[in-house]
Amino acid sequence: MKGQCHCGAVQITVPGPPAEISRCNCSLCRTTGWIGGYWHPDEVMVAAPPGALNSYVQGDRMITTWNCASCGSHTHWTPRTASPDRMGVNMRIFEPEEWQHLPVRVVDGASF
Ligand SMILES: [Zn+2]
Repeated sequence: MKGQCHCGAVQITVPGPPAEISRCNCSLCRTTGWIGGYWHPDEVMVAAPPGALNSYVQGDRMITTWNCASCGSHTHWTPRTASPDRMGVNMRIFEPEEWQHLPVRVVDGASF
């Protein structure tokens, strides 16, 4: 399954759809339009030219979120102190028909 940011500079390939997707109401997910799919970092191929990604670290500093330096699309996050076994990809970079049918896990991140 292959997705990309709006301008196409950042391309991400994953082996296939996740078992479920997550929607979270925390401020970061709300403001970036995040809908999460999760894979082991070894399964996720991120292709981007040098300088094409901006990083953002906030709050508990557990993860780094990445967005395209050109179009601003939030594409994925990688663990900092969070478990190294998992990274997140914004499902919105993939075609909707590839993920909209998947079960949704609603996360109340705003209450954490
Ligand atoms: Zn872009």
